[in-house]
Amino acid sequence: KKSDFGLIGLAVMGQNLVLNVESRGFQVSVYNRTPSVTDEFVAKHPGKKLVGCDTLESFVQSLAKPRKIQIMVKAGAAVDQVIEQLIPLLEKDDIVIDGGNSLYTDTERRDAYLTTKGLRFIGAGVSGGEEGARKGPAIMPGGPASTWEVMKPIFESISAHVDGQPCVIHIGPGGAGHYVKMIHNGIEYGDMQLICEAYSLFKAAGFTSAEMAAIFNEWNEGELQSYLIQITGKALEQKDPETGKPLVELILDKAGQKGTGQWTQLNAAENAVVISTINAAVEARVLSSQKKQRVTASTQLQGPTPALDKVKAELVAKVHDALYASKVISYTQGFDLIKTMGEKKNWGLDFGGIASIWRGGCIIRARFLNRITEAYRSEPQLANLMLAPFFKDLLNRTQQNWREVVALAVTNGIPVPAFSASLGYYDSYRSARLSANLLQAQRDFFGAHTYERTDKPEGQWFHTDWPEVIG
Ligand code: NDP
Repeated sequence: KKSDFGLIGLAVMGQNLVLNVESRGFQVSVYNRTPSVTDEFVAKHPGKKLVGCDTLESFVQSLAKPRKIQIMVKAGAAVDQVIEQLIPLLEKDDIVIDGGNSLYTDTERRDAYLTTKGLRFIGAGVSGGEEGARKGPAIMPGGPASTWEVMKPIFESISAHVDGQPCVIHIGPGGAGHYVKMIHNGIEYGDMQLICEAYSLFKAAGFTSAEMAAIFNEWNEGELQSYLIQITGKALEQKDPETGKPLVELILDKAGQKGTGQWTQLNAAENAVVISTINAAVEARVLSSQKKQRVTASTQLQGPTPALDKVKAELVAKVHDALYASKVISYTQGFDLIKTMGEKKNWGLDFGGIASIWRGGCIIRARFLNRITEAYRSEPQLANLMLAPFFKDLLNRTQQNWREVVALAVTNGIPVPAFSASLGYYDSYRSARLSANLLQAQRDFFGAHTYERTDKPEGQWFHTDWPEVIG
């Protein structure tokens, strides 16, 4: 019997996805560049419907037509290399799926290239890490709708499910799937940083790790319920086996990143969309990585002595609101970017559908995503998520506590770049009049860029002969 599905690249994601696909009743052929990895993997799972192949030729021959081949290798040049090796072995209408974290522009290029070869290509973002891959990830496939129809039964059976709904939909043509996965990762950066800022305030106020764990565990029962809040509670509970101390306190405060956050930043800059929460999160990782410089600066640059212990009792409820409101801003900005690019590319994106598949399997899975789905279902062309009834009420209810938290952080010298960037966005967006009148005056002053007036119809442009400045 020929296999229903083939997978190339048996590292952590590939192995777990194969076991997932196999567990849904499909026979899976597997191939890895280093053959010993394939042999060991197959040997480790006797009795499963797995076909280990040591050559790409035998791998391709083992698959039922049209072949469905998922590539799970290191993102970048490796994907192109595998595709080049596959092309001479494949036949018209065979389907190649790239399930790695590829940059969406690479996916667009590969899609166009494989189409010229008579092959079908799907660029699918897969989120959920190792556990998601094994038990059910969120999948964001892009490519032609007709190819999606062929893949749908497999994708729907291996994805996570929430309320009986699979956490996969056809995102859109070309690079749309990998694009949405990139924004998912940007939002993930924001969510993580916001939680870390809540933690830093609690820590400055003198909460113990056990107390903080209890706060996050409790939050996970309420409106903030999410995977990231859940693992934060668990991480704070963890003790170092050697010293018995809370493990998190022994971990060096230097964060790494693989680039999807920066890709999101670049794309937002290109499209002039504000994603200040995500920007703050990416920049916070950058600053964290400059540990040596920070240690030096800590003895030279002054700040206030934190006295947050005095407000300890009221801090929990306030930080809860600051976190929730900031999270709403982060998603508002992420969806604004998705909407802007979707329109520019004519992807026909279903924003409500995207929020709904993120409810399960992926790293940003959270209860409140239902609310985003509802918001876009009742108003598909919603200009800004903050103006949907649920989010408007939420922000109006939390904004006072949110600004008190930011004020407390600032007066106590605790960095909360993502909380404050989110609040800055909120206050700017709700301002009927900003200070850009002065900005326009400055632009006209030095560059004769002209300006419109509040007392004249829009579209009429004025220039002033400003006084000459000497020196
Ligand atoms: P890695 O990104 O570490 O990639 C290792 C795999 O790629 C190995 O199977 C390796 O084969 C293969 N490989 C590397 N270069 C080549 C090449 N030139 N030709 C053929 N094969 C090659 O594996 P992961 O499982 O961590 O990730 C796979 C993809 O999924 C990546 O795009 C990653 O970004 C993405 N992803 C990962 C997540 C995670 O939590 N790890 C979560 C979501 C997405 P060999 O054994 O021969 O070296």
